[in-house]
Amino acid sequence: MNKRPSALIIYTGGTIGMVKDLVSGSLKPVNFERLQANIPEISRLDIDLDIYTFENTIDSSNVLPDHWIRLVEVIEKNYNRYDGFVILHGSDTMAYSASALSFMIENLSKPIIFTGSQLPIGVLRTDARENFITALEMAVLKEFGESKVSEVCIYFEYHLLKGNRTIKYSSSHFNAFSSPNYPPLAEAGVNIRFNDPVLRRVPKGQTLFHKNLDRNVGILKVFPGMTEAYVRSILQIPDLKALVLETFGSGNAPTEDWFIAALSEAISKGLIIVNVTQCQSGAVLQGKYKTSSDLQSIGVLSGQDITTEAALAKLMYLIANCSDRETICRNFIIPLREEMTLFDWN
Ligand code: ASP
Repeated sequence: MNKRPSALIIYTGGTIGMVKDLVSGSLKPVNFERLQANIPEISRLDIDLDIYTFENTIDSSNVLPDHWIRLVEVIEKNYNRYDGFVILHGSDTMAYSASALSFMIENLSKPIIFTGSQLPIGVLRTDARENFITALEMAVLKEFGESKVSEVCIYFEYHLLKGNRTIKYSSSHFNAFSSPNYPPLAEAGVNIRFNDPVLRRVPKGQTLFHKNLDRNVGILKVFPGMTEAYVRSILQIPDLKALVLETFGSGNAPTEDWFIAALSEAISKGLIIVNVTQCQSGAVLQGKYKTSSDLQSIGVLSGQDITTEAALAKLMYLIANCSDRETICRNFIIPLREEMTLFDWN
């Protein structure tokens, strides 16, 4: 007899399991038993389910790299026991967490699907039910004896997206996420339609779990009228090792002498600066305009079409796991988990 498929649900918190505090009126997370009581349907799924719950469930605005390390530890410990993993997580930082896990687990051969909801599960019009049930179904799908999905994904409002390509773009639509630079991996309607050509193949190598991250990274979003003092105060943060520079359009920034000089000095002292566009879609093309060629010449690295979330997670991962600056830079500019596309735009 065939064994029933199995999934481990990891409950971290988020709106999906929140209720209104009667005193303050704000939403706060509750334990998994209360969440489960609102979705008895899951016991009808033909899946063996187990639950791992964080003892302190969180609003994902409080997520830390330590939580990501904990998620990787739980998955590593249970990797051989389950066909797939569903992580219930707040939507606010889901794209960061999914990006981080994509780097921290190398040669992933099973699905890790993040999901959550915009409305708590106890609310009549909630989106939680569909998100949760379909994520569970996708997490155990097999084809020719292998997992159909072998990557870290986000499932929300009928779409399965590649985790490290995803951004939260709406705080009010049920369709809260988009993946502007990468097609959806699957769409759920009456049937689930997978986009086979863009699904990652199950890798042959051994799955490796990396549990180190370095928090000494930052983000500087350029804006018209930035002062020198503002920029220099960020560049002078003690122990800062890498900075995501969020630029205009295809990677453009002011060409004022003080700005380029400040970045250049920081780079020569060892800071890694990567260029990521503020636009929701499209890529950095350093050198296309004069306003990005200076960045290119002082050694700012092009993030191509990587998201800010994935760039930050990739830097945290690379700094903690590479022995020297050169190796970090070499690995940053190439796709490690299909998180960026390499463009030959000349
Ligand atoms: N603030 C919530 C969180 O990220 C929002 C959500 O879950 O959608 O935990």
